Amino acid sequence: MSTPTLTDADLVERYAPLTVDKDTADFYRGWAERELRIRHCTECGHTWLPFRPICPRCWSFAVDHVVVQGDGTVHLMMLLHQGPPAPGVDYTTGPYPVATVEFADHPGVRLTATIVDARPEDLVVGRAVSLTWFERNGMPHPAFRPTEVTR
Ligand SMILES: [Zn+2]
Repeated sequence: MSTPTLTDADLVERYAPLTVDKDTADFYRGWAERELRIRHCTECGHTWLPFRPICPRCWSFAVDHVVVQGDGTVHLMMLLHQGPPAPGVDYTTGPYPVATVEFADHPGVRLTATIVDARPEDLVVGRAVSLTWFERNGMPHPAFRPTEVTR
């Protein structure tokens, strides 16, 4: 667990090359605490990602965040065979899975992240997945893993 005493400068440095700025610092501070925060409008109740400071429904700046529970379904699935170098990503060992997942507790709110603990052939649109975390550069990053299905 990361320390909650991270300064904004720490966040910028540790999550580089991701863009941490005054609009997204709270989002990435959540990552550091293994919490996936999404924007929430205190005027109309709407929730959304990406983590922008104005409500896309009512244009209010009265926003805070809520934390997603983490269960969702695959909305879009990609298998990357090449791409920019990233720590922990090796395209020579097989395709790198990336999915856009819609959260069950916030319909319409989606996050794109990698999928872990899954074979590429198991990854299909509509697959139930759950939020998990992995470390890159010593900092937590969100990922998804297939949800165990009980029969
Ligand atoms: Zn609103």
